[in-house]
This record gives sequence, C-alpha cells and structure tokens, in this order.
Amino acid sequence: MISVRLFYVTTMELRYETLTFSLALNSINSNGSSLIVYGVVGLLNSWQGRNWNVKVMYSKAGVATQILISTAECDILVDVGDGTLRDLLELDHDFKRLNAIAITHGHFDHVGGLWTLLSFLRMIGRTSDLVLIAPRSCGEVKNLVKGFMSVYGETMPFQVVLRELSNEEKITIGRMEIQAFSVVHRGSTKVYGIGKRVPAVGYSIGYDKQRIVISGDTGMCQSLRKFVKGADLAILEATAKEKTIKNSEVHLSIEEATEIGKTAKEFILIHQCFR
Ligand SMILES: [Zn+2]
Repeated sequence: MISVRLFYVTTMELRYETLTFSLALNSINSNGSSLIVYGVVGLLNSWQGRNWNVKVMYSKAGVATQILISTAECDILVDVGDGTLRDLLELDHDFKRLNAIAITHGHFDHVGGLWTLLSFLRMIGRTSDLVLIAPRSCGEVKNLVKGFMSVYGETMPFQVVLRELSNEEKITIGRMEIQAFSVVHRGSTKVYGIGKRVPAVGYSIGYDKQRIVISGDTGMCQSLRKFVKGADLAILEATAKEKTIKNSEVHLSIEEATEIGKTAKEFILIHQCFR
C-alpha cells in the first residue's frame, strides 16, 4: 500500500486529500515503503515538514517557476518566475517574512517576476534587507539588479544584498542552511537551438534536521544524484517527455527524474512542458 497525498488549489481555496492506493505504483516506487508525493501538471504541490512547509506555487517550463519555503522564523522563495507576486498575494503572504530569494539560474522562466516583486516591495515600504542568492556569474540576475537600482536606487527603502554562491557554498537564512550545488544546464531557442552551458545550481536546504533538495533546471548529473540521495524531499524538474541525446544537458526526462526521486524519501516532479 502506498499513500499518495494530492494537494490542489482553485483560485481561492486550498484543498487537501489523502488517498490510499493499493494498486501497482511500481513504476513510481519499487520498494513500496516510502510516501511519494507526485507532482500533477497544473496543480499546486505542497509538502509539510516538521516545522516548515514548501509550496510549489507554480511551475511550467518556458513559463514560470516559483517555490515558497516557510519556516517558523522566515520565508524564502526559490526562483521568482513571472506571476510570483500574484501567487504570493493569493496566498495572503506576509511580505515581512520574506528574507531571501534563491535563484537557480538566470533563464526567464525562473527570474521573470523579480522586477515586479522588487517594485512591489519598494512600493509597500519594505525596510529590511532582501538577500538575493544566485549562482556565481549569473548575468541575468546581476544585470536585473543593476538595472533596477539604476532606475530606483535613490528611492529604495531597502537593500538588495546579492550573494553569489559557487559549487557547494553555503549561506544561512533564519535557521535554514542553504547549500548550492552546480548542475548541468543549457538554454534552447527555436532559432538558435541548444545554447552554451549557463551558471546553474540546485539547492539543498536543511532545517530542523530535515533536508529538502530543489534541482533547478538540469540534465542528469552526479551532483544531483549526490544531494538528492537520502533527502526528506526532492523537488525535481521533469521537463522532457523522453530522454534524448539532444536534451541530455538541458532537462531531465520524467523517467530520469523519477529514478533520482526514488532515492529521496519523497519527491515532487515539477516544470512540465507547457506544450
Ligand atoms: Zn532553464
């Protein structure tokens, strides 16, 4: 028997159901003992840890990804795609609790909501620092912050503190220990095809003796395997419907993400293709 928790929202309500399946979910979980939270396209995914919780507010490849992590002390966002402000407002989020934003890489579907969120925080008169965590040499994040400060710097009531992390470097926010680990990722566009490798990380986040891992966008790589193994929760991108040589350094396939996810205690698949 495997218990699967499904979470989903309509615009105004959050519903929670626990379903118990006795059917063969062997394709997802072969040992039958661990609880699997399996992401469902277009639905909200949440996870409740000991004294913290995680909400995948939205995630679709080529559109947006934003994940909210809430602890007793404060909240952080992992990625800040288009619509982040809207999603936070719909959750009635307390913006004073938002201490940091950890960005996995600079692609538009992971940073597209940054300008809007900074503008909103400026408008409502935030005064405390906001820590922006990003992979080292992430041009998009640096330039977004630089551009924003060049326009609004004189009337900014709070500091944006950019902290660039190299492979396996850590930062503490509240009581969360956030460790970046390098992953393998390339962008792709219709006209230019698959591009160069970009600075990209996943995050391993520890709190109260539990640990969650968020893959960011990545092809299959050793660092991802290493950090996901034994985690209490893994949130994994599963963009590609099938594994091909062409996409091997761009995205994980559903099959690959599931295989890695099974090495964590629970996992959620996100970032499905919008097409
Ligand atoms: Zn990407």
